[in-house]
Parts: sequence; structure tokens; C-alpha cells
Amino acid sequence: MAGEDNKKHYRLLSCNEASKHHFERAANKVKIDRQHRSWLKIPFREIAVHLPVVMDDGSLKIFEGYRVQHNNARGPHKGGIRYHPEVSIDHVRGLASWMTWKTALLNLPLGGAKGGVKCDAKNMSEGELERLTRKYTQAISVDIGPYQDVPAPDVNTDEKVMAWMMDEYSKLRGYNPAVVTGKPVDLGGSPGRKDATGRGVASIVEHWANSNNYKMAESTAAIQGFGNVGYYTAHHLNEMGCKIVAVSDTGAAVVNEDGFDVEKLFRHKQETGSVAGCPGSTTLESSEIFSVRCDFLIPAALENAITKDNLADIKAAVIFEAANGPTCPLVEPELAEKGITIVPDILTNSGGVVVSYFEWVQNLQQFSWTAEQVDLELQRKMKNAYQRVVDKASEKKVSLRIAAYMLAIEKVLSAARTRGAY
Ligand code: GLU
Repeated sequence: MAGEDNKKHYRLLSCNEASKHHFERAANKVKIDRQHRSWLKIPFREIAVHLPVVMDDGSLKIFEGYRVQHNNARGPHKGGIRYHPEVSIDHVRGLASWMTWKTALLNLPLGGAKGGVKCDAKNMSEGELERLTRKYTQAISVDIGPYQDVPAPDVNTDEKVMAWMMDEYSKLRGYNPAVVTGKPVDLGGSPGRKDATGRGVASIVEHWANSNNYKMAESTAAIQGFGNVGYYTAHHLNEMGCKIVAVSDTGAAVVNEDGFDVEKLFRHKQETGSVAGCPGSTTLESSEIFSVRCDFLIPAALENAITKDNLADIKAAVIFEAANGPTCPLVEPELAEKGITIVPDILTNSGGVVVSYFEWVQNLQQFSWTAEQVDLELQRKMKNAYQRVVDKASEKKVSLRIAAYMLAIEKVLSAARTRGAY
């Protein structure tokens, strides 16, 4: 790849550095005193645990697990649990702070947190994952709870993992489905939670398209990552008439200028383990997804996907950050120079936590909403947040990212100030 040589000459920012980078720039535009400025950057509580798990071959393996509770000025901590080999305390710290800004921006009465276990979940059996999840839940059980901290799915964790967490927590502290969100619907989950992040991404794309003279039916999208978020984003965009011309996963990128049948591509991935070789498409290297000609580029995998290595190749008009932190902050000025808009993660991918909030509310109310009601409320929240970010950006003449952070910081700051040294 072009840029392979450059790799050695610069260092990518970690999630924590990236989050602070955006925070500082937005805080410069907000009336904030020095004390609160320092306070809002640092986490309230950091938990590190070591988890002994019996593996299928009888060996004992010790896993590192974390939960970082960043800020709860506006309500209980909220955020996902990630199972990934790259998980570290610093990584989780950054991801936790993003949840604080996301919940504040969407005006949810919640704070921010994130958890993770350093593991290669894709190569673990279901039994190993269940034992790991139960151990992790035991280890953090005193610090989570419906009014304390409410975990949810994230990378490589799904509704099954949330069901194990809920069950383990309930065994230890009494039945309480509101302790986690993203559960199976039969166990107190919400209709619409599974596809909520993708649904939210698609609705942000639609709002942006409407206000920028793009017709969904004439637009094209390339999606990096075909997990839960990538797949449901593709599915909902396709329903809106947008052509999905390229999709990638860790193994390959596939391109079809006529637009993919998203369900067929999904089945192909399920059957073969990769999008590679999907009939009717051209298979490329995974990293070549960024050079595909399209209107909307949607990174839906991990952080630091868009870097100096692929910056020059990008041909899209706009980047919708479906993942958390997919754009290296250091390349943002160059993207702006190229006229490429970034619609930031804390807005674009917030549909997941919005429906998590609805799930939590339903659990506390002990009353289920219909799928239609969930979707209506989700759409309302996404539209409202989109409009506030766009208005703030034009009023303050700042990027959508800075506008989103400014709105979020103002919310958290106001709650923290009112509560005092709570
Ligand atoms: N992991 C998702 C995120 O990063 C969802 C978090 C939640 O639902 O609490 O936004």
C-alpha cells in the first residue's frame, strides 16, 4: 500500500489521547473554569481485575479485565464491554470518556463508562466466553447496577454475553434486568436494540443527505467493517435507496458498482466467514475500501482506521463515523482541506446507546414498548441531536465534531456545577 513507508514516521493517538485532543479544542470555545476543565477530562473510577478462567483443554488462563467509569454528573455510568486483544486500561479510559460525551449530546440522563477484557474472543469457544463473562461480572459486580453503572454490548460482545452478565449479577445481588442493556428480547431486552446503532447511523446519513442536496436513491456508500454495526447500517441505508458499492471486513474488501444485495452479502459472510469472493463482486485487500469511489464513507470497525496511510486515497464527500474514534485526529485538518466533511462518532453511532436507554427505562418501568414506539423515539432523538449539532456548528463556525463536543461539554459542565463537589 502507498503510505506503508510513512507508517514508521508517525505515531497514532490512543483513544484516550484522541478524546482529550477533541475535548481540549472544544473546551477552548466553551466558558469553563480551570478546575472543571481538569475534572471533566479524568475518570471517576478505574477498575482492573484479573480473571482466572478454565479453558476447554483444562488449562487455566488469566485474563485482564477493566471497567472505567468516566463521569456520572448527569446520571448512572453507561457504556459497552469490549472483548478484544487490544484492550488496555488506557484504551478503555478513552472509550469511557466518549460515552460521557455521547450520552450528554443525546440528552440521555446517563453518564459514561466502558469496560473490556483483553482476549481473542473470535477464537474462544462459547463455553470459554461464558465462563469469562461470568468471572468478569463477579469481579465488577459491586460497582455496577441499574443506578450505578449499566454495561452493554460493544465490539465482540452481543446479546448472549449481556444475558450471562444479567444472570450472573442477578445470582449475586438479586434479579435485576436493568443492570445491563442489549439483552435478548425474551430476557428484558428492547425491540430494536440489536440494529439500533446501524439504524441510527442510517438516519444521520439521511439527515445529512437531505440538508446537503444528496438524494439517497442516487447516492453510494462504502462501509468498512461488516459486524453488527456495519451490517445493519448497510441494511437500513439500502432500504432508504442508497447503493452499497463496497464493504470490507478484516479479510478483504468487496466492490460492486451496481450495489450489493446486502442480505445476500450477509449470508455469504455467515457461510464463508468473510465477505471475500461474494458472487458478482471484485475482491480487493481489506485496506482498499478507503479508496473506493463513493459519496458516503462509513468506517464501522475500530479506531484509527483513517490515517495518513489512506488519507490521500479517500474519494468520498463525507465520512460518517459509525465506529468510535475511526479518524485519527491528526489527519482531520487535511481532510477538511480536501473538503471532506466528518460527521462525528458521538453523534453518528449514538443510536445504540439511545435504544439502550429505552431498554433501561422499560426495565425500570417493567413495561415493554412496541418496536414502532422504539423506532419513533429513536428517530426523534437522532434528528434533534443532528439539528442541534448542525446549528451549533454554523453559529460558532466550527466543525461538526467541535460543535458536538461543545454541546456535550456544556451539558456535563452544567450538571457538575449544579451538583457541586458531589
Ligand atoms: N457500545 C455502544 C457504544 O459505544 C453502546 C453503549 C451502550 O449501549 O451503553 O455506544
